[in-house]
Amino acid sequence: MNLPDDFVFSQSSLQDYVDCPRRFQLKYLQRQRWPAPEVDDMLEFERRMEQGEIFHHLVHQHLVGIPADVLAGRLTDPDVQRWFAAYVKNGLSDAPAKRRPESTLTVPLGDYLLLAKFDLLAVEPDGRALILDWKTGQHIPRADNLLRRLQTIVYRYVLATGGNHLNGGKPIPPERIEMIYWYADHDGATLRFPYDSAQFAADNAYLTQLVEDINTRPEFPLTDDERRCRFCVYRSLNNRGTEAGSLTDWDENAELSLDIDDLNLDLQQIAEIEF
Ligand code: SF4
Repeated sequence: MNLPDDFVFSQSSLQDYVDCPRRFQLKYLQRQRWPAPEVDDMLEFERRMEQGEIFHHLVHQHLVGIPADVLAGRLTDPDVQRWFAAYVKNGLSDAPAKRRPESTLTVPLGDYLLLAKFDLLAVEPDGRALILDWKTGQHIPRADNLLRRLQTIVYRYVLATGGNHLNGGKPIPPERIEMIYWYADHDGATLRFPYDSAQFAADNAYLTQLVEDINTRPEFPLTDDERRCRFCVYRSLNNRGTEAGSLTDWDENAELSLDIDDLNLDLQQIAEIEF
């Protein structure tokens, strides 16, 4: 068995495994730290990450009751001002009134746990159950790529598996669940992913098999897709180059699962799981 008994999976760790088994091994099993930048322009990269964090925090403050005009009056960053104006205009237009910002749910996955931290859950008793995820990146990925991402798979699965305590003790039928990615930099454009029982059963089989593979495989090979290595901190450790990929390419390579909001989330989840 490769995994420690108390291992907690997240969409990020599973995505890392699917993208590159060696990255999963280095990051989560060996906890290898490696001082390399993800992209060439780290100052700009960190600025965008910070903008994303500010926006997520702002929306959270609004959802817990601070008036939008009070929050907007404190903003100085023009991008965040524009994103927040878009959020106020249409960010919640589809969400049922019972809203739970920044909710965390943990469900069993095989002998382990699977954690999801949602930007917003809006669950109507016996009505719809929406998962809203705020995105502040500059590019909207293709819907077929997003459908295959572990975030889409894990979030809907976790809510269908563990949403009963948000729903008066009754499970939430998959047919009531929808995941919506909301793009702040595109005036609140959305990509929407409904769910159903057949997909839930398929996701259960897929996730269970992933965990079994991780736990029993004798080796964790390097990915064959070397494009991924350009944005991976372990590239010099693995003799996959020393130069970080460009931030522009990062933005344009959404199909490589590069997402600045996810990186923030990844760091937060690792911190939560560790401490
Ligand atoms: S550098 Fe490439 S092969 Fe090595 S862990 Fe990163 S993605 Fe995998």
